[in-house]
Amino acid sequence: MSLTDNASAPASLWASFLDRVLSTDPKQRLRIVRSLMSALVFVVCVGLIVYCSIIGIMNPAHGGVLAGLIAVSCTAFYVALRSGWNERFSDPSLTLPQIVAALTWICGAYAITNEGHGGTLILFALVLVFGIFNMNARRARLSTLYAIVAMGGTMLFKSVTDPLHYPAKVELMYFVFVVTVMPMISQLATQLNSMRGRLKEQKRELESAVVRIQELATRDELTGLYNRRQITQVLGEHAARSNRGVVKFWVAVLDLDHFKQVNDTWGHHVGDEVLRSFAQMAASVLRETDVIGRWGGEEFLAVMLSVPPHDPHAGLERLRAKLADAQVSESVPHLRITFSAGMAAYDEHSEVKQAIERADKALYIAKADGRNRTVTASDVAAS
Ligand code: GH3
Ligand code: MG
Ligand code: MG
Repeated sequence: MSLTDNASAPASLWASFLDRVLSTDPKQRLRIVRSLMSALVFVVCVGLIVYCSIIGIMNPAHGGVLAGLIAVSCTAFYVALRSGWNERFSDPSLTLPQIVAALTWICGAYAITNEGHGGTLILFALVLVFGIFNMNARRARLSTLYAIVAMGGTMLFKSVTDPLHYPAKVELMYFVFVVTVMPMISQLATQLNSMRGRLKEQKRELESAVVRIQELATRDELTGLYNRRQITQVLGEHAARSNRGVVKFWVAVLDLDHFKQVNDTWGHHVGDEVLRSFAQMAASVLRETDVIGRWGGEEFLAVMLSVPPHDPHAGLERLRAKLADAQVSESVPHLRITFSAGMAAYDEHSEVKQAIERADKALYIAKADGRNRTVTASDVAAS
């Protein structure tokens, strides 16, 4: 076992422990982490409850009940989130229920901390800060309203039942604090949230713009096939792989026969239709490992892998056969087209453009020999 193995064993153990506790789904994980962070604040609260009981400003029985309720509520939220039960709700973070529960427990703490109760108001404000990540305007309004009503009610109740520790004049001051600060925090949370929403929207727009730009940069607008730049890049990549001895490939240049006549007889729009149909058919008939792009005008370039050496034409002949009785224009249904092609194998460690030139020469021969045929560069060399 190497040193790195020794070092990474506890790390991976820790990682798998965290995966179990916090879930591997990143969204759920974030929700659980936030919930546990607020639970941590409550752990501190329970510590303070113990402290207040020891120094005698709190009835330990009251403290025990509150600590128990807090523990039950934190556990319940953890179970709800970790089990995935939360995902059936429109707000899977369970923001509002968690805020309402937290506000309730702090009202409880306020009611039992006697002369120390003023300090709990800081935690009261903190609860809304936790909601910042998921606080839309409605949730912010509801939680603020609940905060004011719950704390106002607690203050009123305590100032009536225990005026010694909760004098009405002081409670009124605290109430003004709650009424001022809580709406302000929730307003800020709402603003922050709508800002996050806008950022998310902008990110989505940017992502789709990048996809669109990539499309524009690599695709031919008329046919949707790769454009000349992209097919040149594909050629370069294949050449690099071929030079490493990984693949052998062929280059085929395809040119539609008498295409000018199509334009002249039926108009440019029919010509465009024919180009689209041809491109679609070629892309679907050639093998998945073959790549075809528009080289320019009515010329296409195919990069073909695993061409059978005894019958290099096979793929193109399949396309030729399919094209022979294919309708290529809706407006001129009887129109049929043919193509001529020149093919050349790429020689390892040579220039790609040499293979293209040889394929071009073969294409020239195919045209000269009467069109609607495929000629390979080796045929040309042999003749
Ligand atoms: P050959 O059999 O010798 O290849 O004859 P051809 O008529 O196909 O060849 P030529 O080079 O004389 O004509 C090509 C024509 O293709 C001329 C040009 O107007 C047309 N063309 C090029 N690009 C487009 C296009 O995007 N849309 C349309 N409709 N026509 C195009
Ligand atoms: Mg042509
Ligand atoms: Mg041409």
